Amino acid sequence: MYHGPGKKSWETVPDPRVEQDTDVVVRITTTTICGTDLHILKGDVPDTPAGTILGHEAVGVVEEVGPGVRNLRKGDRVIIPAITACGTCDYCKRGMYSHCVKGGWILGHTINGLQAQYARVPFADTSLYKVPDGLRDEDVLFLTDILPTAYECGVLNGNVKPGDTVVVVGAGPVGLAAVMLSRLYSPALVIAVDLDARRLERARRLGADVTVQNDREDPVDVVRRHTKGRGADVVIEAVGIPATFELCTELVAPGGRIANVGVHGKPVTLHLEKLWAHNITITTRLVDTETIGQLLELIAARRIDPTPLATHTFHMDDFMQAYEVFGNAAAHDAVKVVVKQG
Ligand SMILES: [Zn+2]
Ligand SMILES: [Zn+2]
Repeated sequence: MYHGPGKKSWETVPDPRVEQDTDVVVRITTTTICGTDLHILKGDVPDTPAGTILGHEAVGVVEEVGPGVRNLRKGDRVIIPAITACGTCDYCKRGMYSHCVKGGWILGHTINGLQAQYARVPFADTSLYKVPDGLRDEDVLFLTDILPTAYECGVLNGNVKPGDTVVVVGAGPVGLAAVMLSRLYSPALVIAVDLDARRLERARRLGADVTVQNDREDPVDVVRRHTKGRGADVVIEAVGIPATFELCTELVAPGGRIANVGVHGKPVTLHLEKLWAHNITITTRLVDTETIGQLLELIAARRIDPTPLATHTFHMDDFMQAYEVFGNAAAHDAVKVVVKQG
């Protein structure tokens, strides 16, 4: 639970109940921690009130069903996405669930979230996905946020096409997922850039052809060398700081696309004095999670396997330790931690 900047705890609270007709209560079986949770704990997300249970990525079992819920029953195993969708507002009707006027990213942000034994989930029919038989929690856990984020904000917004050169700047959880998912579109070359050699090794295992440790080598040189001097067709920004965004603008070829995924807290200088004539496209997006169904089919068909993104597993009783490991990811060689209720 978040108790204001720098303060967190794992404590006993009253169990949540159904409050609205369209709610369900889910017993959380597997959850994880997101970089966004760390931002909240630092105090970077002021609209999260002190006393909020964090977490917006989990899988669980439906325990209690509101009278207005039609498609879910007690005992159903469900994927609970980061984004909640009312299904009826103008944004939801356009598939832009992240901007849902009643939902969007509310779990573990403006209402209690999923890092708990039980959680109340609003708009259950239009937000939750049933877990297909034969899949474990771990197989589908990352569908709740990092996979659709990498796919929608990175691969789809970047419009990765067969034969493209794709550069992913940042090999954290979302960057690694972008490496893996960009391969669905048969790029000629995937290049991953990061400071951490161990993360780059993971990127190679997940499908990066070339990796650049950018304190040792200049990514601009490496990308030019591999593209006859042109630059990359698609550059996916998966860090969220000014330096990495500006690097992306140096890596992109004329006619290319920069897909921003990173969460930016500071203004970035956009060098339009160089870029104005380069025919580039820059995209931004918040994940809508509208591709979960598609990605779920790929997991069920064993076309993609996100489980290597999980590096550590904890029992829920050791949640504080899970935060320690995830919060010091480089020291522990952590990508995503999995937290289970036995
Ligand atoms: Zn997240
Ligand atoms: Zn809506």
